[in-house]
Amino acid sequence: MDLKQFVTVVPDYPKKGISFKDITTIMDNGEAYKYATDQIVEYAKEMGAELIVGPEARGFIIGCPVAYALEIGFAPVRKPGKLPRETIAVNYDLEYGVDQLTIHKDAIKPGQRVLIVDDLLATGGTVGATVELVEKLGGVVAGCAFLIELTYLDGRRKLENHNIRSLMKY
Ligand code: 5GP
Repeated sequence: MDLKQFVTVVPDYPKKGISFKDITTIMDNGEAYKYATDQIVEYAKEMGAELIVGPEARGFIIGCPVAYALEIGFAPVRKPGKLPRETIAVNYDLEYGVDQLTIHKDAIKPGQRVLIVDDLLATGGTVGATVELVEKLGGVVAGCAFLIELTYLDGRRKLENHNIRSLMKY
């Protein structure tokens, strides 16, 4: 299936000059959503994933059905103040300023093989911070999966030593 036909490219969103890749038109098509999920499930099996970790909010949309299909767990990575119990945090750079991501301290068992899943790899800031969170808790990053990779932003550079799979490239 050519998944790109289900991506809606929105010019000048969220600001002028940005060409936003809207994936909601994959999700609202049952066949396309299942196909995309199945591709990541196969990759997760290849990499021996024991847990899926996804950053809010679109990482949940992609990661949770993968975890369900594999009958393994899903651990959310969230912005500060959203998780109710003890967390660890990592800072990462935005275009202007710094942001932070958090995960529950007990979300990952030491040595557990984790697949990180998000909808899109751009500069790699989000997934880079997620890798740091997983590794701080003693998890092993088995791989990183994305629906879309914006190759011109070279986010892979931040993931040098990690295995990456993206279903579509722009
Ligand atoms: P990065 O941290 O790699 O620069 O940006 C990736 C994050 O921003 C992902 O969590 C993703 O959800 C969001 N993002 C950035 N650009 C886009 C886009 O064009 N489409 C979608 N769907 N998400 C984007």
